[in-house]
Amino acid sequence: MTIAMHNLLLLLCCSHLTISVIAFQPSLPSRHITSRERPKIVIIGGGWAGYTVAESLSTNNLHSDQVEILLLDASKSGGGLAGGYREGKRPVEAGIHGFWREYKNTFAVMDGIEGVNINEVLSDYTPSVLYSKNGKVAVAPVLLNEDKVDTLFTVPLKEERIRRLIAEKLPPPLDLPILAKLDTQSSNLQPLDVLSGLGLLGAWADFEQESPASWKAYDEQPASLLFEKAGITDNLYQELVSPLLHVLPMCPAYDCSAAAALSCFHVFALQSKGAFDVRWCRGSIGELIFHPWKHQLEGRGVQFKNGARVACISSNDDEEVSLSGETPSKYSYAIQLDDNSRILCDAVVIAIGAVAAGKLAGTSPALSSLPATENFDKLRGVTCIAVRLFLKPDTIISDNLQGGFYSKTQLPPDVAKSMTDSPIAVCGAGIGGISELKETGFCIYDLQRMHDEFSVEYYNANSVELEDQVAVLEVDFYRADSFVDMSDAQIVGLTLKAVSEALGTKIINTEDVVESKVLRARNAVSHFAPKSALYSPGAKVANSIYMAGDWIDRTGHASWSTEKSVVTARQAAYSLSVDFGLDRSSCTVIPAAADTPQLSALRKSAKMLRSIAPPKTLPPSPWVLAKQLLSGEK
Ligand SMILES: Cc1cc2nc3c(=O)[nH]c(=O)nc-3n(C[C@H](O)[C@H](O)[C@H](O)COP(=O)(O)OP(=O)(O)OC[C@H]3O[C@@H](n4cnc5c(N)ncnc54)[C@H](O)[C@@H]3O)c2cc1C
Repeated sequence: MTIAMHNLLLLLCCSHLTISVIAFQPSLPSRHITSRERPKIVIIGGGWAGYTVAESLSTNNLHSDQVEILLLDASKSGGGLAGGYREGKRPVEAGIHGFWREYKNTFAVMDGIEGVNINEVLSDYTPSVLYSKNGKVAVAPVLLNEDKVDTLFTVPLKEERIRRLIAEKLPPPLDLPILAKLDTQSSNLQPLDVLSGLGLLGAWADFEQESPASWKAYDEQPASLLFEKAGITDNLYQELVSPLLHVLPMCPAYDCSAAAALSCFHVFALQSKGAFDVRWCRGSIGELIFHPWKHQLEGRGVQFKNGARVACISSNDDEEVSLSGETPSKYSYAIQLDDNSRILCDAVVIAIGAVAAGKLAGTSPALSSLPATENFDKLRGVTCIAVRLFLKPDTIISDNLQGGFYSKTQLPPDVAKSMTDSPIAVCGAGIGGISELKETGFCIYDLQRMHDEFSVEYYNANSVELEDQVAVLEVDFYRADSFVDMSDAQIVGLTLKAVSEALGTKIINTEDVVESKVLRARNAVSHFAPKSALYSPGAKVANSIYMAGDWIDRTGHASWSTEKSVVTARQAAYSLSVDFGLDRSSCTVIPAAADTPQLSALRKSAKMLRSIAPPKTLPPSPWVLAKQLLSGEK
């Protein structure tokens, strides 16, 4: 059979699959692996990726009895890194997670969960305030004014109105510097510094995230080289670029791949108007999203096993599997849990973090021999620490605060005042010269203005006794390796100091901390170090073994973090559905935003330039090139 015929047949087989053109096309030969009527599929990992795979495969297939699905997760509660749980009456999470405007696939998934109304579960788009080690840098307002002209004229400040009118006419990213309100008092950042950022446009246009060759070229270089070549000023680097790197890819420029930095900035800020705008959950993502989601999946017949850590996967070629009970030869794989129990199945979807996958590959005969897992031991993770401080409420309730879902807080008045513009402070590395924070960025959240159950309005409406009321500060640290081994009490002390240094407020007295929770996520977040893309597998790594997660190659779809986990999950589910003839799966991937006409034009010019004079490494900005030519540098 020719490849063309084979593809045609595949197409006919899958004519019911709802899948967009951008979706992953399986590169490995497919086959109907099992003779059983209902293939048994095991999904390992219960975060966004694992749940989305279960969602895609179960939407229509379970009702028609086409497939059996079991989802295993090592943790006790669902949601992966985005999940959480209650300790006593207090909810805790491994960090607060935002949803960017371009998270279209994630929003679509949420929309499909019964009991989740996006506009009730999430806040509106929320501004944030950026701090560098030198102090407050800028307020990042909500960039896309969806109501356009009507609300433009109700915006109170004359200056703001003018800014918005100008920005309306500019393509991204040129609208960003116009809308961002630089803090001229504490920041050194001058308009010329901001303009130097345009030096990145050359690389941004030259870098084609959908092209493997372009990824490879940029991925091999550190982002520090990219910024040097772009000729951005030291001020811009220190005040804006470095803080954003520390909270988005969560690493310093020397330890971040240039491809990751460019792609991150593209996805989170530059790809479309308002791409930088973020919505936040109005409570725990675990409770508001994953609980109803699990309920929906269970209703369809998906089985869940929590507290189930997978220790090893072997294939039925391995002696061990054929020795196990339950007519093993019928199944392709045996999954062994760390309590030594075994589960046999026809297909496995691995939806766990990169470092966890590296460990699993090392112990699993079915994975260790695969070319795709050859470099898994080189995959690294970023360590995060989430600290939640429940504080004695201040006798003064600060009101009329901007940007949050709620406008009141019982935080100490000086803290409340310093967070007037937004309940979210985004802080770069090196704040306050604190040695532990040299390479650690962090975010401070006033949860009373973000989460329903802590809001002053909730307390009043439900007559919550004063002794049961708390003000709540959450501080999430990224790349926190230097202090992850400290005791909880030491970390709380460091957190109080970091907040005071960042916001320029008095240190909150430890006696005012009624309760605190410190959650450590060691090596848990994917680290996009130089060359890391080389080690990222595709959505299918072997017959009947698929992978999903925010570190999996998403074949050109410009997405990151949660959205990338959802996209790769859809791609893995698609691939599996093709292989097993599950023609009712719901695997649609909504394409990322198309290039703006301006970016398209820039890309065309960059392509032409590259064909005439291919750059040896990363392309320099025009002014760096001119400087090099004038000084005779190469
Ligand atoms: C502090 C912090 C802040 C963040 N902020 C944001 C944000 O604002 N926006 C955003 O989009 N993203 C954010 N992220 C990243 C986001 O959490 C991840 O991109 C997302 O959770 C990835 O989902 P996932 O399903 O791929 O993996 P995970 O959420 O890591 O889930 C993997 C699951 O696999 C399980 N597992 C691991 N090993 C095994 C095993 N051997 N057997 C069985 N189960 C196993 C784990 O228990 C876990 O539940 C943040 C992360 C952190 C830590």
